[in-house]
Amino acid sequence: MEDKKVFCEECRNDVNYIIEETQMVGMIKGEAYQYRGKVAHCVDCQCEIYVAEVHDYNLKALYDEYRKQNDIISLEHIREICEKYAIGKRPLSLLLGWGEQTFSRYYEGDIPTKQYSNTLKKIYEDPNFYYGVLNENKNNLKLEQAYKKSKAAVELLMGRADGENKKINHVIKYLLSECEDITPLALQKLLYYVQGFYYAFHEKFLFEEDCQAWVHGPVYPEVYHRYKEYLFNPIDTSKEVEFSEIIDLEDAIIDSVIKYLGCYSGKVLERFTHTEQPWLAARGEYRAVEISNEIICKEDIGRYFKHIKSTYNMSNPNDIKLYAESMFTQLYGDI
Ligand SMILES: [Zn+2]
Repeated sequence: MEDKKVFCEECRNDVNYIIEETQMVGMIKGEAYQYRGKVAHCVDCQCEIYVAEVHDYNLKALYDEYRKQNDIISLEHIREICEKYAIGKRPLSLLLGWGEQTFSRYYEGDIPTKQYSNTLKKIYEDPNFYYGVLNENKNNLKLEQAYKKSKAAVELLMGRADGENKKINHVIKYLLSECEDITPLALQKLLYYVQGFYYAFHEKFLFEEDCQAWVHGPVYPEVYHRYKEYLFNPIDTSKEVEFSEIIDLEDAIIDSVIKYLGCYSGKVLERFTHTEQPWLAARGEYRAVEISNEIICKEDIGRYFKHIKSTYNMSNPNDIKLYAESMFTQLYGDI
């Protein structure tokens, strides 16, 4: 029983009504679709009566069924896109090179074509795909601010933001605060060794980010972009790290990597990594100076450093010293 009364044609009066669920059939584009709908009856004469909310409900149920059977993105997902990526309806249309009102119409319930639906689905499901669209077409947007806002939202989803809680950022800040004159190149290599030796001793990775097999050895691309202005110069720690941000990680692995590998220059460490299996495997057939974005898979890194740990009979993190000295001697001879 509803509180609101509606007009019954039979009773010629405003009446109370009851709503029941029922199986219904509706037509869209010449095809019949069965769906679960609702029907309202007058409580006095039992006749079916028109209730606007029930009508809207049925229309939505019919269209939902159509979307489901034709593999068209749902209205809920369409509406979530704006929120998820902090982008307005019109800016999104412009980004996609559609008519300015196209996305707004879909947002209001119009059914997208299959092709447009597939694009929207991909955007909904894959932040990386949206990130590509956003950056390729940012010039379509009228406001720089709209681009920045959406970029920040998608980066957060992709885990790219300098999130306070990201383990890799704690490690970076710690390395920056503990090492003297650390260049971006050396930072990259120390991150890699921390990740590798941490796995060798703990059988798990310290942070989740993947590195890539660049010409100058393993590189974490986001970290590269963060500090690239320093080129081959030391990173200005006083500018990049707030004292309050440094968490004492109190991890013997990190401290040993700093002590026994952090004493070498980035160039020397680059040469170390060039002789190591994970980088070599990811480089494959690439020529020495050829650009590559191949990921050095974490499994490879884990396996290699476990192998090193057993080869050098390492029983505690201090033994990382054995590997560092042996690598240096192999490459530069005894000193
Ligand atoms: Zn009636």
